[in-house]
Amino acid sequence: MKGGLRGAVAFAAALVVLLTACAGSSKVQTLVPGVLRVGSSLDFKPFEYFQAQPGRAKVLKGFDVELVQDMANRLDLYVRWVDSDFATIFNSLASNNLDMVAAATTITPTREQTVNFSNPYFLANQSLTVNVGKTPDITSTDNLGAGDIVAVQNGSTGASWAQENLVPQGVQLKRFNLTTDMFTELDAGTVTGVIDDEPASRAVVADMPNLKVVQVIDTGEHYGFAVSKSNGDLLRAANSALDQIMADGTYAKIFTRFFPGQEVPAQFQG
Ligand code: GLN
Repeated sequence: MKGGLRGAVAFAAALVVLLTACAGSSKVQTLVPGVLRVGSSLDFKPFEYFQAQPGRAKVLKGFDVELVQDMANRLDLYVRWVDSDFATIFNSLASNNLDMVAAATTITPTREQTVNFSNPYFLANQSLTVNVGKTPDITSTDNLGAGDIVAVQNGSTGASWAQENLVPQGVQLKRFNLTTDMFTELDAGTVTGVIDDEPASRAVVADMPNLKVVQVIDTGEHYGFAVSKSNGDLLRAANSALDQIMADGTYAKIFTRFFPGQEVPAQFQG
């Protein structure tokens, strides 16, 4: 009798431990326990994009996608991606619809008023892409003026740069929600150029032979993962996971897969 009772108590205790583990064993608090809701605009190769597979469902891929997955594994969190409009993504995070934004987002003082950013994890510049079949003579933004229409993504640092630097010289901006649409229009010749992050533009033009990145615009941007100001614990946990990822060589492994032939920046190596 006594032994049976002891066994039943032990079994109940084991069950509690098991159920707690299932409910999310992570020590990091998120909106839904155990789940990291990550907002992104999933149109930004090579950082976050869908890859079609013949006869099968498309898969989510990208440099950010793998970094976030690795970070979440280290924090015992399950990642749920939420495809979002880039222009409203920081407000969505600030109003606690998301735990994190991972969208190749540049750390800027304006955005830091709304959200917190992790330590930097990538360096990027802006760039000008043109249609070399239609405008072979345009090699820099100095060649643009009245009559030219340049595509930018709503709410992006590229849009701010173009607003400050190209509008004063007479260029008209056409704003898009999806970056992929900007390049489709450039290919069709309905816009003269695209201003967008250099690594993203290079990834797109690799598959579009009429398009070429003709100028790198030295804006020296640092990407960070954004976290709600109300979740300081998640920010600290994300930063310590990122530190580990850089220190143990995981960062270098992922970087080399998405940016083959490029040197891993020293500041992101352990
Ligand atoms: N790095 C740019 C920004 O933060 C573009 C990011 C993006 O379009 N996903 O605005």
